[in-house]
Amino acid sequence: MYCSSLRDHAARVGQIARLIETRQMKYLVTGAAGFLGSHLTDALLAQGHDVVGVDNMLSGRAKNLENAKTHEGFSFHHHDVIEPLSGQYDRIFHLAAPASPPLYQTDPVATAKTCFLGTLNVLELARATGARVTMTSTSEVYGDPEQHPQTETYLGNVNPVGPRACYDEGKRIAETLAFDFRRMYGVDVRAARLFNTYGPRMDPEDGRVVSNFIMQALTGKDITLYGDGSQTRSFCYYTDVIRGLIALMEADTVDAPVNLGNPFEIDMRQIARIVLDAVGSDSNLVHRPLPEDDPTRRQPDIRRAGELLGWAPEVSVEEGVAKTVTYFKEYVLERVA
Ligand code: NAD
Ligand code: UDP
Repeated sequence: MYCSSLRDHAARVGQIARLIETRQMKYLVTGAAGFLGSHLTDALLAQGHDVVGVDNMLSGRAKNLENAKTHEGFSFHHHDVIEPLSGQYDRIFHLAAPASPPLYQTDPVATAKTCFLGTLNVLELARATGARVTMTSTSEVYGDPEQHPQTETYLGNVNPVGPRACYDEGKRIAETLAFDFRRMYGVDVRAARLFNTYGPRMDPEDGRVVSNFIMQALTGKDITLYGDGSQTRSFCYYTDVIRGLIALMEADTVDAPVNLGNPFEIDMRQIARIVLDAVGSDSNLVHRPLPEDDPTRRQPDIRRAGELLGWAPEVSVEEGVAKTVTYFKEYVLERVA
């Protein structure tokens, strides 16, 4: 008798724990039509949550939301985050910002406004409604780093008046706002510092290195190496980053920024070679001028993400590039059709 009532009690506790774990929540995702925002939206919908996506379609594409739009729990608002946001949400993922250097430098004032005012509006909404926020910051807060690999405690080496400053400094002030809202108003906000991330649904025309090289290799054009191609980056496949963002949002308490990236560091000649092999292309490598303030090296120290979230990337760059090539091939075929 005693044993069976104990068993019943344990079963009920288990049930309640599972209900809490799987509680359907309402999410706001800013930048939902973009590369990462659309994958995150799909992942949250697949977990049974409701998602409201907002995007001003600066670099977002309607095609990225084709899957999300088939879900009842999804709705979309064309909205610029520099304008105030409203609504009641449990969680807010704040991704809205141009991420490609050529794009964010086209209208640097708009980029800085998006980073500052967009983040301010998200934080004001969270303060008013009690939502938890995870925002995507960037490895660009480290600038051209003098510490290698980059730990979260490294304060960075950013040129505040250069052509990349609208984004780099924009993301730095966005982090400043986030941690001041935490200290002043108790907003539960987390910041992921993403390192270069790639994969299907990147805008093939947005000028980032992986998309450029794949498009050039697929269309038989020369591969454009900026500078001598010896600058390094650490490329992370999007599935790893999405998993990290969700783990960061759901971690009990995180009161400092967290790097999310793949520590596997390679130079631009190596990534060109990996792309050429994946496509089976014999395009030539040509050199173009190195953009001003282009960081020389980039490699995340991910010990904090490992300790706090049990997170580490799983997808190799060869595997990720091959999957990305498959997606871009379809895009090229659709374009010529
Ligand atoms: P993306 O350009 O594909 O997505 C950004 C989305 O934000 C786009 O859909 C765009 O239209 C939208 N947007 C831009 N300005 C907006 C505004 N003012 N109001 C509403 N929507 C706006 O880029 P992504 O690679 O998916 O990047 C997503 C986030 O991750 C960004 O915050 C970016 O800074 C950050 N990040 C990305 C990388 C990466 O390598 N992909 C690295 C570091 C940080
Ligand atoms: N890059 C390049 N060829 C290109 C596009 C970019 O060599 O066609 C280089 C660029 O100079 C930089 C690196 O690739 O050193 C990564 O560029 P990306 O714009 O993807 O990201 P970020 O500079 O923000 O890391």
